Amino acid sequence: TASAELRELLLAHIRDVPDYPEPGVMFKDITPLLADAAAFGALVDALAALCTRHGATKVVGLEARGFILAAPAAARAGLGFVPVRKAGKLPGDTHGQAYQLEYGTAEIEVHTDAFAAEDRVLVIDDVLATGGTAEASLELVRRTGATLAGVAVLMELSFLGGRERLLPALGDTPLDAL
Ligand code: AMP
Repeated sequence: TASAELRELLLAHIRDVPDYPEPGVMFKDITPLLADAAAFGALVDALAALCTRHGATKVVGLEARGFILAAPAAARAGLGFVPVRKAGKLPGDTHGQAYQLEYGTAEIEVHTDAFAAEDRVLVIDDVLATGGTAEASLELVRRTGATLAGVAVLMELSFLGGRERLLPALGDTPLDAL
């Protein structure tokens, strides 16, 4: 999705940490990117441009690193931000969706009144890995009755097949990996 120049800028500030949080995982650490004004600004600009291009009216960030990217992108695009949080963190009435982790399950939630019926929602996270988290978030958006405008991530680990997993829920809706 991104220009070659932007891709290089972003990649130059992502640190690979082997065997974190457990052996065999290559963790994509975005903290150097967040700490670099030029790279972080360019990333937020690119995400805000996707919000506009896809006609989003609300932006979802997935806890926790998705918050750091989605909130400034929403503000820059002139849109509101909606958190999708781990179970038990949102104070109001929520929809919940459980999903499979490598070991065990997790659950995420969204406020039932987070969107209006006419809202178009762009979902943002840092890394698309197996797609389990994003898939659960799309189910949450669907249950609110709002329309999905797209999914945008900084990075897609394509060898894990997340894009294929999301395909049934996405249909023609765009999945952008910067
Ligand atoms: P998944 O549900 O497998 O697509 O995992 C996506 C979530 O886990 C995202 O919220 C990521 O922040 C995090 N994640 C998974 N794998 C990695 C990785 N290799 N490096 C950094 N974050 C990861």
